[in-house]
Amino acid sequence: MGKLNIAFFDAKEYDRQSFIRSNEGGNGPDNAEFDIRYYEARLSSDTYKLAEGCDAVCVFVNDDINSFVIDKLSEMGVKLIALRCAGYNNVDIEYAYGKIHVVRVPAYSPYAVAEHAMALLLTSIRRIHKAYIRTKDFNFSLNGLTGFDLHGKTVGVIGTGKIGRIFIDICRGFGMQVIAYDKFPAKDSGIEYVTLDELWERSDVISLHCPLTDENRHMINSESMEKMKKGVVIINTSRGALIDTEALVEGIKLRKIGAACLDVYEEESDVFFHDYSNHIVNDDVLARLISMPNVIVTSHQAFLTNEALSNIADTTLQNIRDFFSTGLCANEVCYKCANISKCNQKHEQKCF
Ligand code: NAD
Repeated sequence: MGKLNIAFFDAKEYDRQSFIRSNEGGNGPDNAEFDIRYYEARLSSDTYKLAEGCDAVCVFVNDDINSFVIDKLSEMGVKLIALRCAGYNNVDIEYAYGKIHVVRVPAYSPYAVAEHAMALLLTSIRRIHKAYIRTKDFNFSLNGLTGFDLHGKTVGVIGTGKIGRIFIDICRGFGMQVIAYDKFPAKDSGIEYVTLDELWERSDVISLHCPLTDENRHMINSESMEKMKKGVVIINTSRGALIDTEALVEGIKLRKIGAACLDVYEEESDVFFHDYSNHIVNDDVLARLISMPNVIVTSHQAFLTNEALSNIADTTLQNIRDFFSTGLCANEVCYKCANISKCNQKHEQKCF
């Protein structure tokens, strides 16, 4: 059998570097294990043809793998959708079931994301983003830069999985009191779980670390914000649509929300990962957010560390290797089980 062909969508320079390193294993291009075609385009209903002749596609958070794309990939003989990320809300996994297998990278560096969440929080409340610009301009005034201590404040963490737990440890290191909400609370974790309403009411800082599902879309909305403390800081490094962004803008304008730290944004697929510095951005909600002094936006970069990129490349290629050599992959996702170890299908180890 020749080399497996992989169509790699939404490829950025940092992706290529880490995947080339992992694929070649230091043995040079001629000895690469897979034939990877890197495309800058995202996978969508308009670009799926780029995967013609490929065994697998490799995709990221903003590729749009809808039912039409799944049908087309399947007709073209593509056997595997290899997500090089943990979240899979951009894949219609229910529709993919029985047609094409989906694998993901469940963890690559939870530290990267948790540390970025704390970096955003500190930057925001200690006004580092403002101070940096001031001192660059030899403006050494302190007016308007007053922050507040994290020590003694209450942080409400939503989602106590890999990233949420590390963020909790970091917050405890700062002397914060931690409360949490999780749909599936971890037993014997020593974490104080509360209801969502209690979390809204008690938290000085709220940080989102849960996946986006139909159930929790817009979980932060005008109603939940109404219950929050005045001046609360909201951090979102999970998925943009967990927050109703227009309601957030209103909450900030009303001074109810003290600051927002956003690494993700519900309409991010139109803008994130691209340079629009010479363009007039059409997204008025994003423009309004960015104009606010107490909002920090980073463009879905929380994962972006050397360690994470290297783990992403290694795990993605291992997933592809496992799937094509054994037909099985421990990191397969399907809508019935979300993880092969919990698959409720009759099959021993395969989702279908
Ligand atoms: P994880 O699966 O380890 O943990 C998720 C936790 O959320 C679990 O404890 C789960 O029980 C809980 N949960 C599920 N549904 C919930 C709900 N409706 N309400 C509350 N809690 C719920 O995942 P993780 O590795 O910690 O990642 C968390 C999220 O971070 C991912 O889903 C992804 O969206 C996001 N993420 C972002 C980046 C980034 O670069 N910004 C990188 C990686 C992951």
